[in-house]
Amino acid sequence: MTLPKKHLFDLPSGVIYLDGNSLGPLPKGVAEKVQGVVTEEWGQALIRGWNACGWMEQPARVGDKVARLIGAPRGSVVMGDTLSIKVFQALSAALAMRPDRKVILSDTGNFPTDLYMAEGLIRLKDAGFELHTVDPEAVSQAINDEVAAVLLTEVDYRTGRKHDMAAITRQAQEAGAIMIWDLAHSAGALEVDLEGSGCEFAVGCTYKYLNGGPGAPAFIYVRPDLTTQAEPALSGWLGHDAPFAFETSYVPAPSIERMRVGTPPVLQMSALEEALRIWDDIEMAEVRAASIALSELFIREVEARCPQLSLVSPRDAAIRGSQVSFAFEHGYAAMQALIERGVIGDFRAPNVMRFGFTPLYLEASDVMSAVEHLAAVIGDRLWDNPAYRTANRVT
Ligand SMILES: *Cc1c(COP(=O)(O)O)cnc(C)c1O
Repeated sequence: MTLPKKHLFDLPSGVIYLDGNSLGPLPKGVAEKVQGVVTEEWGQALIRGWNACGWMEQPARVGDKVARLIGAPRGSVVMGDTLSIKVFQALSAALAMRPDRKVILSDTGNFPTDLYMAEGLIRLKDAGFELHTVDPEAVSQAINDEVAAVLLTEVDYRTGRKHDMAAITRQAQEAGAIMIWDLAHSAGALEVDLEGSGCEFAVGCTYKYLNGGPGAPAFIYVRPDLTTQAEPALSGWLGHDAPFAFETSYVPAPSIERMRVGTPPVLQMSALEEALRIWDDIEMAEVRAASIALSELFIREVEARCPQLSLVSPRDAAIRGSQVSFAFEHGYAAMQALIERGVIGDFRAPNVMRFGFTPLYLEASDVMSAVEHLAAVIGDRLWDNPAYRTANRVT
């Protein structure tokens, strides 16, 4: 196969999309697929759809597809809910595995919802648990025998800095802690070897690099030998061993399906299942190599043409994910000006302009045009316009 595979996406004309790290674009075929699920499956099969159309198996079936992309075995991943919920599930199961420890370790580069969910769980448990957040570079030194669980996002959403998954997992486990990886900015962006890392839990979302659409279901991985030890905190009926026995008391399924909660979002899950077809003949190594090439080109050109911007992401591609961030004092206004010119990236407070590189639908010529526009916005001070200063609700 060859990249890019632009023809597989419905991208608006005149747009260079550098925000697939936040919301992936619409793959061709998804609209038609969802239309069919609505009119034929839901419309015609009605309640029979749960059996006749395979809706009930969908969370595990789609989970197997995601598993292949993150180096996990079949039967170890299930889909559902949103990533915030999956973080809660993984963390509560992890804490239950280390009853004599009270510390959850994370880093200040983690996405806020992961930290907020940990705080909520701590309040709920009301048993002296503490969340320690340290600088990303200080995680290794902070792992000790008081830590119950290490909760980290592999790739930093702001800077793109990438943790060494294998090394940190080994260290956490040597200290007796449980390792949870959040793969929000990894799945579909780079090679992940979950099985090889040996981590106990992993979670992630599918609306970023996997192009599942806004609100697409999240995933959770449990290391297969631990499946029956992972206690489901959210003990919903579809995680029950026999949901349709309608027993009055909860017994978790002996499989990864215990991490299901309630009725799956069939329309959204169908959009994702269709979107994942693109990956059937794609090797992640190839995506990673192409993403590095695009990112290196972008960094080189921006540094040569926009000296006002300073690189926030690691310079070494080996420790950088699939995004490149630059700091610029007027970053918000500059990004608005850029978006008006059809180059869509995004902005993260306080001053970070963020650009995602997704080789499925981007090539070197797109990067060169994007830099051309960016150089005009910065060099000609096009950002200096009152219209670009009012912040939207979603940045
Ligand atoms: C995008 C992202 C989320 C989003 O969580 P949702 O519940 O899907 O809104 C959570 N964690 C990380 C690390 C993310 O990058």
